[in-house]
Amino acid sequence: MKNIDKSLELTRSRIGRIEQKYGREPGSVKLLAVSKSRSTTEICAARECGQIDFGENYVQEAVDKIHQINDPRLIWHFIGPVQSNKTRQIATHFQWVHSVDRIKIAQRLNEARPEHLPPLNICIQINISHENSKSGVSPDDLQQLVAECRNLPHLKLRGLMALPAPSTDIELQRMPFRQVKMLLDAVSSTVLPLDTLSIGTTQDMEAAIAEGATIVRIGTALFGARS
Ligand SMILES: *Cc1c(COP(=O)(O)O)cnc(C)c1O
Repeated sequence: MKNIDKSLELTRSRIGRIEQKYGREPGSVKLLAVSKSRSTTEICAARECGQIDFGENYVQEAVDKIHQINDPRLIWHFIGPVQSNKTRQIATHFQWVHSVDRIKIAQRLNEARPEHLPPLNICIQINISHENSKSGVSPDDLQQLVAECRNLPHLKLRGLMALPAPSTDIELQRMPFRQVKMLLDAVSSTVLPLDTLSIGTTQDMEAAIAEGATIVRIGTALFGARS
């Protein structure tokens, strides 16, 4: 197990330096610890160092860990592809879903969100570099999905998410993020103010913060390489 207190401290201070370098407000970028495939011991070690937000990709694995840890202070974000037969579990156990990409999924999450809980925070995932994955709505279809999501009372549309094709060149990394930021600004100024841009992983965190990330989703830098 990696020394999580050190890696958290290093990652937080790195985020701070990048914020400063690109003229971002200090503290404007939230660190989401991506804990897929990590044990509850590792998650609790991160929690002891003040980490509150955790991201998971696989519903059953996540729900098991959420039950075991059973800590109402933690905030759980679902960041993986959403299958329609998993929407009830997601709507019950998570506070955020970053990966909404079609209206059917939004409707099912809305219907399944328990009445006693506040609205589920959602981001719409954009398919920005088409070769990389089938997940995400195409930019052309975004306006319509936004219009449909905003009418669902048990969802709160917060922003956009993207996971572009990997690149090691920072300028190439920045291009798709800039496109997502432009889409966010377009929606915000015409339809509905949005406050969340969920972009950036261990490999492209600097590019993402440079382009306006408000949440970076970091696994490897915190917990080490996944097996
Ligand atoms: C796994 C994953 C991450 C974290 O990636 P790292 O390279 O480990 O930082 C971020 N976002 C999504 C959607 C993921 O599936």
